[in-house]
Amino acid sequence: MNTLTVHKVIFRTDELFELQLERGTVQFEPGACVALFSNGTEWRPYSIAAGTGEGILRFLIRRVPDGKVSHWLAQRKPGDKVQASAPFGWFRPGRAVAGARSVFIATGTGIAPFLSYLRSNPQQVPELCLYGVRRQAEAFNLEELQRIENFYLALSQEEINDHFYGRVTGLLDQIPLADDIHYYLCGLDTMIDETSSWLENHGVAYTQIHREIFFYEDE
Ligand SMILES: Cc1cc2nc3c(=O)[nH]c(=O)nc-3n(C[C@H](O)[C@H](O)[C@H](O)COP(=O)(O)OP(=O)(O)OC[C@H]3O[C@@H](n4cnc5c(N)ncnc54)[C@H](O)[C@@H]3O)c2cc1C
Repeated sequence: MNTLTVHKVIFRTDELFELQLERGTVQFEPGACVALFSNGTEWRPYSIAAGTGEGILRFLIRRVPDGKVSHWLAQRKPGDKVQASAPFGWFRPGRAVAGARSVFIATGTGIAPFLSYLRSNPQQVPELCLYGVRRQAEAFNLEELQRIENFYLALSQEEINDHFYGRVTGLLDQIPLADDIHYYLCGLDTMIDETSSWLENHGVAYTQIHREIFFYEDE
């Protein structure tokens, strides 16, 4: 267990914020999660969004209505202490098979592990990155992501000329299909299920599809 100091809490919208914790001696690989504890014994897993070369740990968090841990984290101030587990997890964007190409697909805060990968490996660009949020204001680190040549933002509740209007699954036809591509899906369960089915129906092997579910839509 680590006791980490809050560096900053930056709100993007009323619900979405980036929690920055001083890293201390924590070592991690892109895609890793950390269990963050609120007062007492409640904890929830959160995916690290920082690059492995950074001195802080970044987390992109949605404050869930009546959510025990996300609400508590949203109220932290610089200098506060947060208890955190050692990093864990098996989701490793871009790393399933050495030399394989990657496609990243995220909804909401599910972009975090991909940002961690991109920040840690700036030379290794995915073939495609699809990112779905409700409104543009909810998109984390858009300028950084737009440096990826094949990057598409899907907005399900806002029409803006430059971006796709609809759920991210409306962009599945953009996905390149090949045996040497691995597909990494992170975020909402419905997006992950729909995308996995689409890929399998288009001949992609189950072993090429990697999934990390953050939220269940009926919650
Ligand atoms: C591997 C993994 C990684 C994760 N990484 C992240 C991350 O990087 N960022 C992040 O924000 N979350 C992440 N999560 C989700 C996170 O762990 C918590 O589930 C979330 O923050 C809610 O916890 P809570 O204690 O605030 O709410 P709880 O007290 O657990 O839930 C309160 C109520 O809110 C409902 N609820 C839960 N989620 C939602 C939702 N999305 N929308 C509406 N209602 C909801 C619950 O059903 C419950 O009724 C991750 C989950 C997993 C499994």
